[in-house]
Amino acid sequence: MNIYPLQIKKEDNKLVIKWNNNETSEITLQKLRDECPCVSCKGESVMFESYIPIKSPFKPAGFYEIEKIESIGNYAIQIFWKDKHNTGIYSWDVLENLGK
Ligand SMILES: [Zn+2]
Repeated sequence: MNIYPLQIKKEDNKLVIKWNNNETSEITLQKLRDECPCVSCKGESVMFESYIPIKSPFKPAGFYEIEKIESIGNYAIQIFWKDKHNTGIYSWDVLENLGK
């Protein structure tokens, strides 16, 4: 069975996701941002050479705050953070794993 969210909503400092299998995930915004899946946050592997970005201990204002969320087709959401970071595409798989 394919798992997909029936409802995604932001509550205080977390994202609450109701799935079609009756499970509910709660993911804190901090975890969501720290696990941002985009290339500039997570790095990428190019021909067996890994590029791993160095995480700055300095967090700009709005780093852990969501400006808005947009759905991407029917497989993911894109999160716009208040510090203008918006390249993270969170697929349902990613969200389900973060909620565990
Ligand atoms: Zn990112």
